Amino acid sequence: MRVALFGGTFDPPHRGHVALVRLARERLSLDRILVAPVAAQPLKQDASSASFADRLAMTRLAFAGERAAEISLLDAPRSDKASNYTIDTLATLQRQLSPGDALYCILGADSFLTIAKWHRSAELLTTCDFIVGARPGFDLGCAEAALPDGVSAKPLHSALHNTQLLELTGERGKKTRLYLLTDLAEHASATQVRAALRGETGTERLLSPAVEQYIRAHHLYTASIE
Ligand code: ATP
Repeated sequence: MRVALFGGTFDPPHRGHVALVRLARERLSLDRILVAPVAAQPLKQDASSASFADRLAMTRLAFAGERAAEISLLDAPRSDKASNYTIDTLATLQRQLSPGDALYCILGADSFLTIAKWHRSAELLTTCDFIVGARPGFDLGCAEAALPDGVSAKPLHSALHNTQLLELTGERGKKTRLYLLTDLAEHASATQVRAALRGETGTERLLSPAVEQYIRAHHLYTASIE
């Protein structure tokens, strides 16, 4: 079975998130995608404006009916209030897999381009294969340059449509694969959604109706929205 982790702040979850999950599932024939809202994202400590409970509820709505997607509490708030690190979440997930299962981690281009700043990034990149979706405004051509010290990349032939494939080599020669989905082009971000809600401009292009209704019903992101 091919299992993937897709973590995010999801503040709120939008069409860009769903498009990335859908494309990753189709392209890599993923069987299960664990969509995990993160409690406290170490690199985004101030950006989260809805509670974890609200982000979880909205994530359930955004991914309802999305094939292979399951909402996961793997990155839920920890009792010790410590930061959630992707390398730890992947290790937990890896322990739950059966022999023969393959593990992937899904990210958008903007997140991947910061990977060198992530906790134990060199080790992280050789924990499992990575699937990275292109995002408007972020150049996937810089993916190799974004790798941390200790990880090198070699281009491989990819049989997958619109997908660049790099073989990563890390400490002790450990190898993983980096799949770059070059054809994703979703102009949606949570920042844009929050701004649209504050400015009372339309969010139909950005949000599913169910998520928008939840935001309105719970008066999230702006007190004036009715
Ligand atoms: P914000 O605008 O607050 O920074 P965001 O829209 O990037 O938020 P996150 O919850 O931080 O949303 O993103 C979770 C993951 O989804 C990240 O890996 C991010 O790169 C990816 N992602 C988000 N939006 C897109 C998009 N439009 N296209 C591709 N990847 C995306």
